[in-house]
Amino acid sequence: MFDLTGKVALVTGGNGGIGLGMAQGLARAGARVVVAARDAAKSAAAVEQLRRSGCDAFALSVDVSDEASVQAMLAQAVERTGRLDILVNNAGINIRKPVQGLALEEWRSVLDTNLTSAFLCARAAYPHLKRAGGGKIINIGSMTSIFGASFAPAYSASKGGIVQLTKALASSWAADNIQVNAILPGWIDTDLTQRARREVDGLSERVLARTPAARWGQPQDLAGTAVFLASSASDFVTGTVIPVDGGYSIQL
Ligand code: NDP
Repeated sequence: MFDLTGKVALVTGGNGGIGLGMAQGLARAGARVVVAARDAAKSAAAVEQLRRSGCDAFALSVDVSDEASVQAMLAQAVERTGRLDILVNNAGINIRKPVQGLALEEWRSVLDTNLTSAFLCARAAYPHLKRAGGGKIINIGSMTSIFGASFAPAYSASKGGIVQLTKALASSWAADNIQVNAILPGWIDTDLTQRARREVDGLSERVLARTPAARWGQPQDLAGTAVFLASSASDFVTGTVIPVDGGYSIQL
């Protein structure tokens, strides 16, 4: 039910952090993995790591905020693999500033990278998923898909938007046997949150105090849910959001 043998999975931002954690899970379940990100050296290292554990993977360069770059990347991926079954829209950035200090180009950069990117990648993936007889799209939201954050207005707007885009895509393509769902990670220890810990005083302590599991998540904590949403086990699950947060979102 969870076997992904013969499937091709494309993970944006798959060269580190949560993206690589999910890529490892998908690869261990049998998928061939395409790692798509900007930093070629980091992507090569991630691919090496995936291959060392016996997985089939390769990397492509993309700027997910750029329409032409996304289209070229998807075309190259399918040219090399002959098919696409699973798209994980994971690439993301944050600019932590109060809204009154945020420049328009900073707002646009976060929205383009976190939200418009998911639209662009999903739109480019759609004909290939349809041709394969169906497929899976997994969008990555955040706790800011649920809660507001005064230090991250553009990020919160982008991650709220991801949930509604997920529902719109799910209803658009359900008849094509394409399921679209979102994962909302809690606080996961990655480069992104290492930076947040430096920029937001007392963040780590607040996260630990509020998370019932009493720990930061690790990228591999996302792997199981990604495999579920990428596999036939979730064929009647669409348009939904699954928090993977150690309970952060379930208590006051
Ligand atoms: P990282 O900073 O470790 O990873 C971000 C990834 O996105 C990198 O692989 C980066 O690769 C890629 N990326 C960024 N901008 C672009 C771009 N324009 N084009 C292509 N790739 C891009 O962060 P995380 O692993 O923590 O974050 C992954 C996702 O999870 C993000 O969407 C984030 O918002 C979300 N998330 C993270 C949480 C956490 O606690 N860590 C909590 C909730 C959500 P490169 O630089 O090579 O392009």
